[in-house]
Amino acid sequence: MEEFKKGLLKVVSLIKREAVIDRVSVRRVLRELERELLKADVSPQLVLELSRKIEEKTLREQVPPGFSRRELLLKNMYEELVNLLGGESRYEPKVGKGSTILLVGLQGSGKTTTAAKLALYYKRRGFRVGLVCADNYRPGALEQLKQLSEQVGAEFYGRVAPPLDVALEGMRELKRRGADIVIIDTAGRHKEEAMLLHEVKEIAEKIKPTEVMLVLDATIGKAAGPQAEAFHKAVPVGSIILTKMDGAARGGGALAAVAKTGARIAFIGVGEKVDELEPFDPPSFVSRLLGMGDLKALVEKLRSAQLAVSAETILSGRFTLLEFKHQLEELNRMGPLRKILELLPGGVQLTPELEKAGSENLRKWISIMNSMTREELAKPEIIGRSRMLRIARGSGTTVKDVKELLEAYRRAQKLMRQLTRSRRARLSLP
Ligand code: GDP
Ligand code: MG
Repeated sequence: MEEFKKGLLKVVSLIKREAVIDRVSVRRVLRELERELLKADVSPQLVLELSRKIEEKTLREQVPPGFSRRELLLKNMYEELVNLLGGESRYEPKVGKGSTILLVGLQGSGKTTTAAKLALYYKRRGFRVGLVCADNYRPGALEQLKQLSEQVGAEFYGRVAPPLDVALEGMRELKRRGADIVIIDTAGRHKEEAMLLHEVKEIAEKIKPTEVMLVLDATIGKAAGPQAEAFHKAVPVGSIILTKMDGAARGGGALAAVAKTGARIAFIGVGEKVDELEPFDPPSFVSRLLGMGDLKALVEKLRSAQLAVSAETILSGRFTLLEFKHQLEELNRMGPLRKILELLPGGVQLTPELEKAGSENLRKWISIMNSMTREELAKPEIIGRSRMLRIARGSGTTVKDVKELLEAYRRAQKLMRQLTRSRRARLSLP
């Protein structure tokens, strides 16, 4: 990871050095960023997408008072890198008292080491942890995990027998001995992936673990993506652990490729020692990569300043469908609706169902508007039945959905007009 970090630090210092931030210098900075990402084995398509988004946003967004376009560029780079590596929120595996974790992955990916690391991680959180060795292929596997168990202070179960039998026995036995969490380490020895996946599937079906964790070696770079997908097809993988992030020059590519599949990266392994496991949180990871501990704070300040500016835009009456689209995108990007509504005065309350429906609508509406032409966005009144049909097809929605969106827009517009009027009325009072 050190190389990747060094590369990104170079990009940040380039941003700081540029005399002005305009189209030309933004391109120059982004070319450098693209080079670093490609070096880290991020797929060219993802690199291009990211770079285009940063450029577009940096040149389009208004600079709120008190900020500079340089900060805007930095913010957008941060945001898009966070997006690339899995999004704003950290995925927390639902592991607690009574949980069974099944570790799967190819041989050498770091399963056994990770089993011990996880045992220590959960032990430090107050759980009693037991480790099961369901690997009877590799001589020494039993001894390796047994020693690690002693080292981290976890209960251990293992014997040379068919993996499924050992896993079932171990689970029962360790729970009997009082383990809150049982972690099952598997073999993953097969050279042929099909065989391995078959075996993993069988074990998962019999054991019914609370959480399947897939261990992937980050040194394989973007090839981690297809590997995650192959495993996911065989077993319901809950979380991913990327190991060997410490040395891997291609770790960035591995993270991006896995995040792209929609899988959730819960931890990264950053060394051979049992305490070298870190919960993976994209925002703080990216802040560290960019060498800026306080980046998150800056980004949040900038975002609320931007929201204030767009509120101004709305209140001034320049509220087009295009503006509505930017607003919704902004809302969607900011995360859970509940959190956004909490920021509003009056403390709007949302039931979980409403929140879910709201978030789904938000995504649907954005994709509908993505299927509209510029002209339609600027003049929604020209959208008749046939255009609605085309837009619905293009966005994979229905005419009813398109109508709903247009109605929501009109309601918002009306509300804004009322707000503007009452504000003007107040302002005109002597
Ligand atoms: P398994 O075959 O999947 O059980 O893999 P092991 O746990 O036996 O690990 C294979 C090798 O990778 C060992 O030499 C480990 O020390 C090493 N390893 C595992 N995780 C990490 C890590 O996060 N960083 C580094 N540098 N090495 C690791
Ligand atoms: Mg092993």
